[in-house]
Amino acid sequence: MKTRSMAAAATAAFLLCCLTTVFAQSRPTARRPAAAKTTATKPAPAAEPVATTNTRPAVPKLILVLVVDQFRADYLDRFHTEYGGGLKRLLDESAVFGDAHYNHSPTITAVGHSITLTGAMPSSSGIVGNEWYDRVSGKQVTSVNDASTTQLGGESGKEGASPHRLLVSTVGDELKMSEKWPASKVFGISVKDRAAIMMAGRRADGAFWWDATTGNFVSSTYYFNQLPQWAAEFNKSRAADKFVGQNWGPATGGTPFMMLPSTAGPAYWTGVVGTSYGNDLLVMMAKAAIDGEKLGQRDSTDLLAVSFSSCDTIGHRKGPHSPEIHDVALSTDKVLADLFAYLEKSVGMKNVLVAFTADHGVAPMPEYNQRFKMPGGRAAAKDVRDTVQKALVAKYGPGEWVSGYSGPAPYLNHQLIASKKLALDDVQDTAAAAARQLPYIARVFTREDLRRGMTHADLVGARVQNGFFYLRASDLFIVPNPYWLFEASGTSHGTPWNYDSHVPLMIMGPQIKPGRYYQRVLVNDLAPTLTAIAGVEIPSGASGRVLHEIITANK
Ligand SMILES: [Zn+2]
Repeated sequence: MKTRSMAAAATAAFLLCCLTTVFAQSRPTARRPAAAKTTATKPAPAAEPVATTNTRPAVPKLILVLVVDQFRADYLDRFHTEYGGGLKRLLDESAVFGDAHYNHSPTITAVGHSITLTGAMPSSSGIVGNEWYDRVSGKQVTSVNDASTTQLGGESGKEGASPHRLLVSTVGDELKMSEKWPASKVFGISVKDRAAIMMAGRRADGAFWWDATTGNFVSSTYYFNQLPQWAAEFNKSRAADKFVGQNWGPATGGTPFMMLPSTAGPAYWTGVVGTSYGNDLLVMMAKAAIDGEKLGQRDSTDLLAVSFSSCDTIGHRKGPHSPEIHDVALSTDKVLADLFAYLEKSVGMKNVLVAFTADHGVAPMPEYNQRFKMPGGRAAAKDVRDTVQKALVAKYGPGEWVSGYSGPAPYLNHQLIASKKLALDDVQDTAAAAARQLPYIARVFTREDLRRGMTHADLVGARVQNGFFYLRASDLFIVPNPYWLFEASGTSHGTPWNYDSHVPLMIMGPQIKPGRYYQRVLVNDLAPTLTAIAGVEIPSGASGRVLHEIITANK
């Protein structure tokens, strides 16, 4: 046996060596799928990992991570014939995943963004929502607010924000910790603080977000004592005010959706990010960062994460079937073409690894569904909490039984429960039983059930369990029936259902084999894939896998 296996190993090593040589010789230079097809007419090179020698893979000089807030996976297919810019290029030249999902609940912004570059579930990262009730301080907190920091670039003395609640490392942190490229720089930019901060991570050189009070991109003293000069100059230039008084959309012609205020001020600065011009604003700031920091233009691998928020603002108001969403999708295509053209000149796109995804999807408007005999409707989060309060008063007597909330999910008053010498399990079970009676509720899990892992191992149960972090968890975790919303108007996301979890995932650039891939993958796979390509350690809490099927063995 030993001899046979040794002989087999020797043969395998020889074959791998030959295949590596063949592969290196036939390595396609173009990255379009058409080129890949042409080479495929020759004897196929090894389809599986072929990096068996010590050849140094082409490491990107810049990792550009693009997240479009609330961009549903189907926006790629629905509008693909109209794309002619950056999205078209990504569709043509990327590894495009058709079945990429988040596998946690709640599917909301801070959580989604934390996963893109940590690969970690909320159960490890500690990022369980946009906001939650902090049992230690007895206050509602956001994922990023930080009283020990001060905002920079906006109104003076305002509280800042930081990644201090993020418990795991990001791709950027690992680039830095590897010390492979001591000059490596990491930045995050978005309209939203939580998006910029969560993607950039703890060792980031900076994160910037939009302040609608001043019309500036701001940051916090967590990163530096004053804004970098290029950022201060960008704000001073008032480039962000260029859309004052402009009509918005539609790009395809027809009556405009709205006109922006004719003077620069808080009304304009709030309004502009609710139009497709919000995308332009982000690209302007990204270009300023690339130029100001010379990203991708030094002897290092840098990381720039940009999250576009306008799709989310517009989507919440108008829904996924609106002409406004059509417009913002076309705008995304256009501004990405602009950004890629800029990078072609400054960095060379062959040196840029681009990843494109979204932080969650979104549900159709309930009224849209009802028109077509689909299920769904509207409920009020407060009704769920009131139902719980009423049931607890009925059983245990008067008192403020609910201390805080995260959406419909209540945080119970543990002090009151202790003072009445009640068993926490019993009180949670009573609350859960009441909430379950509401006709639009699919499942109610208690914190103790989740702590003990007592969920059904189906889609919903697994996703809720992945979103559970004991110290920050609400006492009840509530899942509505599909297509039910806790909003009085517009639409939203946050559930474990597929319309909220299914997102685009496209990866383009050095070491990537373009093509369509339909296997189920998770957004958690992105971070390990990026660190594998960069040749650095996997982020500490990443639960995904390296998407090895898209990686070539370039020299
Ligand atoms: Zn979002």
